[in-house]
Amino acid sequence: AEKRVKSIEEVRKSLPIYQYKEQILAAVAEHQIIIVVANTGSGKTTQLPQYLLEMFDRQAVKNASLSGKMVACTQPRRVAATSVAKRVAEEMGTKLGHKVGYSIRFEDKTSEQTRLKYMTDGMLLRELMGDPSLNSYSSVIIDEAHERSINTDILCAILKDHARANPDFRLIVSSATMNAQAFSKYFDDAPIFNVPGSTFPVHINYTVASEANYLAAAVTTLFQIHLSQPIPGDVLIFLTGEDEIEAAATNVEETIRKLGSRAPELIVCRLYSGLDSALQLKAFEPTPPGARKVILSTNIAETSVTLDGVRWVCDPGYEKQHHFDSRTGMDSLVITPISRASAAQRAGRAGRTAEGTCLRLYTKHAYYSELPESTPPEIQRANLSSVVLQLKSLGINNLIDFDFPDPPSPDVLARALEELYALGALNDGGSLTSIGRKLAEFPLNPLLAKCILEADRLGCVDEVLTIVAMLGESGALFLRPKDKRILADSARSRFSSKEGGDQLSLLNVYNSWAESDYDPMFCKENFLQYRSLVRARDVRDQLVKLCDRVEVAPSSAVSDHVAIRKSLTSGFFANAARLARDGQSYRTIKNSMTVWIHPSSTLNETRPRFVIYGELVLTTKEYMRNVMPIDPLWLNEVAPHFFKEGEIEKLGVGKKMPKGQGKVGVDGR
Ligand code: ADP
Ligand code: MG
Repeated sequence: AEKRVKSIEEVRKSLPIYQYKEQILAAVAEHQIIIVVANTGSGKTTQLPQYLLEMFDRQAVKNASLSGKMVACTQPRRVAATSVAKRVAEEMGTKLGHKVGYSIRFEDKTSEQTRLKYMTDGMLLRELMGDPSLNSYSSVIIDEAHERSINTDILCAILKDHARANPDFRLIVSSATMNAQAFSKYFDDAPIFNVPGSTFPVHINYTVASEANYLAAAVTTLFQIHLSQPIPGDVLIFLTGEDEIEAAATNVEETIRKLGSRAPELIVCRLYSGLDSALQLKAFEPTPPGARKVILSTNIAETSVTLDGVRWVCDPGYEKQHHFDSRTGMDSLVITPISRASAAQRAGRAGRTAEGTCLRLYTKHAYYSELPESTPPEIQRANLSSVVLQLKSLGINNLIDFDFPDPPSPDVLARALEELYALGALNDGGSLTSIGRKLAEFPLNPLLAKCILEADRLGCVDEVLTIVAMLGESGALFLRPKDKRILADSARSRFSSKEGGDQLSLLNVYNSWAESDYDPMFCKENFLQYRSLVRARDVRDQLVKLCDRVEVAPSSAVSDHVAIRKSLTSGFFANAARLARDGQSYRTIKNSMTVWIHPSSTLNETRPRFVIYGELVLTTKEYMRNVMPIDPLWLNEVAPHFFKEGEIEKLGVGKKMPKGQGKVGVDGR
């Protein structure tokens, strides 16, 4: 053990940031806020919090009010918070969750003894809602500030204000990219520390022609490297999300099997945020001699985590981004070209331990003509209703004058206020209502939280919690292997509920799985993605605990579909649509947009007159996913001010509907 501790000490001292330790601490003593800029791998995330902790421990000897306080280090990404906390616990020779811990949504690994807390930026915001005094923290490091996540931007504003009122409090804003001037200016000319990074040269290659299928091209490129280039030298491939990563992994693993002993060993690692944490850690383990590792990662690996040993980066040039259209209220994740700033960061990951190469799967021309210089901050791209609700519950009412690092567009703010008002979270004066306060307690989109509150009123919390958890996983839940489509579809149809639509079908899937005692074989037999169901169960378990804390009692209405559907309608009323005259397409009730039922929906053939949907996806058409039949009169009941007076009645629904539902199915039209 002695030897191991020593070598960790040596590694710590060899990091670029170590040379600046005393200077940084001297600056922290003098200034409340400083900015640290250093390349990925310099030691910002692992070292800065430890330095601060040492410093405050020394000061606590004289100033007792500091003793026992924590250092927080925030991350925009869950994976970074958890993996770095594990690493630092090792460095400090303590068990994870003792002196060093982490806190991410739905998972808290801290204890009474925790002094250094890695957490997502969203979690610190949540804590602020419970305790605005921030009394348990001596200091905060806002890490990865260059990512400009919404939560990071909001934290910047709140902590800047907090520092004014608390002269002992310290804030370090840390960033991996050089354009820190804007941050410095925002923080009243806070001093900037530039830590020069020691990186090796990286050669950049472009493709000659553009790639029609970057996923296939990435796998081909991987094997070209693997079969022709010397070992050691790991390969890092940037993909946009779990689906792509799992598809590529399957493809790579099949090819490895076919190659057999003709190729050197290739170890496949994945890195994305929903991944089981044991599998995540595999990416950080040293590659055994004689083998090569390939890491299939989202842009988590761009700057948030350090992977030693990567000499090849393969960059298809895409990422998933939130895009919000304030006109339609549609929020979607879209595969978008990355910025040139991101491309430079991705390339940099090939030069950490030796000279490396970055293979860009796009042309040089595309690099200059299609990639923007940088990506606008998330606050200017996304739906803001969650964030507005949080700000309101922090007592920040005047959003127009709020000190955003970069303000969101007034349209998007207005849209968020409207949505919250319609949910009953805000009153006419724009202040938080008691419903709003309850909604803010849930670490969920306010729409989903509203469904849960309504379920409490109608006595079906159990079912609605399951559906809420399942909606988050519905995208990749149903498997359809090419050669077994018919079998898969017939398995799926056994769970279908025509009366309840996709939401109730999801409930049926979950309940049947639970009845099988959460059996993986059950998933296999029914063509269901086991890891999606496991995640849904985890989220559900956390929601159950949370409900207990906010005094939402468990209740169940097994056979009362109406109560369940009404509860869901109370959150998703803005997504109501009616069947058009053509009997095929739908029009949204709020703004008459033409939409279609997704072919994978349970209701694709029945096409009820009135539905709500979970989300819209744009492929060849605007498709509604997760579609559920409703009685349109519920809309007036659950959102009395959202639709114009008489608007719902005008749809020809004044006549009493049969009890239970708006008439569903072909004969209902
Ligand atoms: P930065 O935040 O500046 O990008 P980090 O503090 O994350 O840098 O990493 C500093 C060094 O710590 C890395 O170069 C690497 O050697 C080591 N390191 C970081 N995370 C891990 C890990 N999970 N496993 C092993 N070593 C790690
Ligand atoms: Mg870092």
